Amino acid sequence: MSALEVPEGSDFPLSNLPYGVFSPSPGQPTRVGVAVGAQIIDLFSLFGDEVFSSSSLNAFMAEGPARWSEVRHDLQERVSDEQAAERLAPHLVPQSSAQMHLPIEVADYVDFYASEHHARNMGHLFRPGSEPLTPNWKHLPIGYHGRAGTVVVSATPVRRPCGQRKEPTEALPSYGPSAKLDIEAEVGFVVGVPSERGTRVGIDAFSDHVFGVVLVNDWSARDIHSWEYVPLGPFLGKSFATSVSPWVVSLAALDAARVWPPKQNPEPLAYLRSAEPWGLELSLEVELNGTVVARPPFAEMYWTAAQQLAHMTVNGASLRTGDLFASGTVSGKEAAGWGSFLELSWNGERPVRLGDGTERTFLEDGDQVVIRASARSADGGRLGFGSVSGRVLPALE
Ligand code: CA
Repeated sequence: MSALEVPEGSDFPLSNLPYGVFSPSPGQPTRVGVAVGAQIIDLFSLFGDEVFSSSSLNAFMAEGPARWSEVRHDLQERVSDEQAAERLAPHLVPQSSAQMHLPIEVADYVDFYASEHHARNMGHLFRPGSEPLTPNWKHLPIGYHGRAGTVVVSATPVRRPCGQRKEPTEALPSYGPSAKLDIEAEVGFVVGVPSERGTRVGIDAFSDHVFGVVLVNDWSARDIHSWEYVPLGPFLGKSFATSVSPWVVSLAALDAARVWPPKQNPEPLAYLRSAEPWGLELSLEVELNGTVVARPPFAEMYWTAAQQLAHMTVNGASLRTGDLFASGTVSGKEAAGWGSFLELSWNGERPVRLGDGTERTFLEDGDQVVIRASARSADGGRLGFGSVSGRVLPALE
């Protein structure tokens, strides 16, 4: 026997080692595991530490960066050992038979709006004739507090929401199923180490608090949203469901993907200036019913996650283990890199053609959306995030 076998092109090479929560088969107790190739290493079985027999990663994430690093180094040695396959065999579970769970118990959920291209597209669509970026946009990372309790794991079906809608051409609102159900392809950051209320988390303390990264689909009902959002921002058009990928890729695994964000002009205030590059070169892919409809480039995001974390706590708001903050829709400059159907179909004016010959503006019942991402790994290869997927169920009668 030799090192663990990783199929060619797997999202989970030995350089990745993302964490998730799984049951070896549906209905069995939950464990913390690490994905390698098509297998999961059961960390409770391997280490016997209670922290890994939990129903979420929160207990492990709360232990902090020294411990995360210790476990990662231990695993790196074990998986590359010449007898790895033989020694780890009793602790391996095939991903094909496991059931994946929501990896974190979500504490607070914040969603940002960090892509300049997305913000400009939204401005053009909803405030035609005026400057697309609001005056605050280049001075602070704009965000809102979302609904933590409706964050669900990938593969959970999403029911079309009902609510009040009113198109600008209509005199009065009506109630019914959203006719403009959409996605937002995003990247989410998971907080491990909390902070004390009344203190700030400085921008250069980012990696002391943030454990890792997930993919996020921020399902959005555009018609409900456009009627309700003024003046307090997103509410029921967003809060019905937010899906996340089951595997949390650690910050350490993304070292080789770190880049400086695009040049920021005007220069942000001092608390938003970082000594380190916290942009990430991730290639996203959005697929609808088997057709890739967009490839959003995360490296083009204007605000970084470190700036977002510093901004989120600059008023003394505390962090909790399990806080999730998402980047906002990842949209690049080019239309092929736009991360929502609102943009791809230009609010329904330009339908998107799928491989089966059908066309979409917004989502139809039964549609299946899958978002994937990959990045450069430390060994010069490629690592992946797995995926976040969801199928649209019809609205309740
Ligand atoms: Ca969003």
